[in-house]
Amino acid sequence: MTIADLDRELVQCRACPRLVEWRERVAQEKRAAFADETYWGRPVPGFGPTDAAIVIIGLAPAAHGANRTGRMFTGDRSGDMLFAALFEAGLANQATAVSADDGMKLYRTRMTAPVHCAPPQNKPTPEERDRCAHWMHAELELLAPSMRSVVALGAFGWRQTLHTLAELGWTVPRPRPVFAHGATASLARGQQEIVVFGCYHVSQHNTFTGRLTLPMVVDVLTAAAEFAGVDPGNSAASSGDEPFAS
Ligand code: SF4
Repeated sequence: MTIADLDRELVQCRACPRLVEWRERVAQEKRAAFADETYWGRPVPGFGPTDAAIVIIGLAPAAHGANRTGRMFTGDRSGDMLFAALFEAGLANQATAVSADDGMKLYRTRMTAPVHCAPPQNKPTPEERDRCAHWMHAELELLAPSMRSVVALGAFGWRQTLHTLAELGWTVPRPRPVFAHGATASLARGQQEIVVFGCYHVSQHNTFTGRLTLPMVVDVLTAAAEFAGVDPGNSAASSGDEPFAS
């Protein structure tokens, strides 16, 4: 099983009836501003090289963002902040992401989510969260050989990240570290050590209120890159291929 295999299986998943109905209805009804676009309307796979040293973990695709474009964080306000920060930190080749064919490349960085289908009100049920967990489980295991830093966005991403990594055999500190912006947790498995970095989610709720600013996100990404040994100036040369084009 490779990440490309995983992604090909993932995009066929119909395990959650409520989310399947929602993602497909949104794709049919569309938002007026995107009326002439063909929405993706399916599970959204992770985005970025398969040898990523930095893994960014969010929540779930946005109804008119990734559920429309088919690429994580692409085409919505959350992505506007995240991709701008990745570019600023030297981990992306451009600052804006508008569509799956916009030329965006991430360097040594992959982004994924604990829930791969857009949920109503951005709120998956606990059952949907648990049903989707095996996809991130498999993806993080496939990324494990190269993974050094994980950036968890928001309390949901933080909790699911620690939970998944614990299930994969990583030693998580006890008591389990509490989420905060700038929090870190060191995990070990055998000789390998990784650090999980907490970052407020790049949702409009945080960015429009000023709770989260671009420099704050850049700082977390820079710290994650430093721990991972990623030199942003030279990272383009070492980025792996993007296996799945939606
Ligand atoms: Fe499948 Fe996950 Fe989408 Fe549920 S949320 S249908 S488990 S991909």
